Amino acid sequence: MIHEIFPVGPLQCNCSVIGDETTHESMVIDPGDDINDVLAVVRKHSLRVKQIVITHAHIDHVGGAMKLRAATGAPILLNQNDYSLLKMLDVQAAWIGMRSPGTVEIDRSITTGETVTAGSLTADILHTPGHTEGSICLYFPAQKKLIAGDTLFAGSIGRTDLPGGSMQKILRSLHDTLLALPDETVVVPGHGELTTIGDERETNPFLVKR
Ligand SMILES: [Zn+2]
Repeated sequence: MIHEIFPVGPLQCNCSVIGDETTHESMVIDPGDDINDVLAVVRKHSLRVKQIVITHAHIDHVGGAMKLRAATGAPILLNQNDYSLLKMLDVQAAWIGMRSPGTVEIDRSITTGETVTAGSLTADILHTPGHTEGSICLYFPAQKKLIAGDTLFAGSIGRTDLPGGSMQKILRSLHDTLLALPDETVVVPGHGELTTIGDERETNPFLVKR
């Protein structure tokens, strides 16, 4: 598995480029910005981008999606519960003083029970509402790797005070869905350092049982 993780944009969203070493098919997760950097990684490994997957419709995760689609022809996938947030990209841009990326078109909605593939690599989609209504995580069972978006961070969890956020829902998503994964699962959060499900189960103040 080729997996490059690098921060993009002013909010330093972790963008993932994941590719099959044999077929060179790949997916890009959360191309929030800096699409020239994303394309440089794609070219470095001679990859063909088959899917653009967005963990949720916050501007720092979805902002570069249309530019990447134009460059690669790959479809953009997002859970439909975030379509209303996607219509607020201008408002989101104003919150953080960024230029709006314009309209983002979604090619397909994805949710729990579906998979996204690139060559021999398969990710299970997990709908994990709470940070936003349409937040999803991608779990690669063969590699025990989780792309968590802004649902889970090393030592913290996603904020729930923005439109569509719910503390009750994010805690249910974390306890029922993410903590059901094996302890050795490597977690790639939407921002900041990598962690594991086991470490977060033991030490994350939002998750430890009192
Ligand atoms: Zn977010």
